Amino acid sequence: VLDIRNLHKQYGTLEVIKGVDISAHRGDVVSLIGSSGSGKSTILRCANLLEDSQQGDILFKGEAVSWKGSGLGRHPSDPKQVLRIRTNLSMVFQQFNLWSHMTILQNVMEAPLTVLGRDRSEVEQAARGYLDKVGIGDKCDVYPAQLSGGQQQRAAIARALCMEPEALLFDEPTSALDPELEQEVVKVIKDLAAEGRTMLIVTHDMKLARDVSNHVVFLHQGLIEEEGAPDTVFGAPKSERLRGFLSSTM
Ligand code: ATP
Ligand code: MG
Repeated sequence: VLDIRNLHKQYGTLEVIKGVDISAHRGDVVSLIGSSGSGKSTILRCANLLEDSQQGDILFKGEAVSWKGSGLGRHPSDPKQVLRIRTNLSMVFQQFNLWSHMTILQNVMEAPLTVLGRDRSEVEQAARGYLDKVGIGDKCDVYPAQLSGGQQQRAAIARALCMEPEALLFDEPTSALDPELEQEVVKVIKDLAAEGRTMLIVTHDMKLARDVSNHVVFLHQGLIEEEGAPDTVFGAPKSERLRGFLSSTM
């Protein structure tokens, strides 16, 4: 579904991604781990074109993103393609970014209605279905401030699902939550993995990465230091840096 090849990204003169390849086939759950500042969020943001890049290719379902410009600051050239990719790679952020003036149901319905122009009654039915699925079907008519953090994050996941994306991108979906609320979000992510959804997950939760992924990528200073099946990466890490990272987080 998604193929990132030789990605390079600089902020000014700071080179933060130095040639990274990541691919996710349909049904893959790929976790990105690594210490703070290693470039995990940047990769997700480049993947769904929230950021431009300096070099490298992004292929979505075999279709290469068309770039304009070269070298410093390339931008995707075709707005329709950008919209298609953003719609199909729905992102769930650490801070759930729900609209505070809209009810939970309106939050979930907003993008399919305004961005995709879908039929209101169909969208409403789908939105209620996704809210049920994440366990907050009874919260449709309340505002975000009336929900716990875990419930807000589950609403944000329902909102991402309502775009019917090909793949979901999660950036530290549980790190703003208290430990007891974290588990309810972990459960939703595990259910989605079991359903065979394609997901790219940035997480500091090594147990989650081990439980749900079929591929784990360890980043260090903008490069892939080690990657592989979770049993190998967590059970028999080869790199000294990875061993150090794991012993500091587990
Ligand atoms: P964390 O675990 O703390 O979220 P991360 O692995 O997600 O870290 P990134 O957010 O991708 O790291 O950041 C990688 C590097 O890029 C960091 O050195 C950061 O300071 C830098 N960076 C990120 N965003 C910007 C920006 N908008 N402008 C300048 N530098 C940035
Ligand atoms: Mg980050």
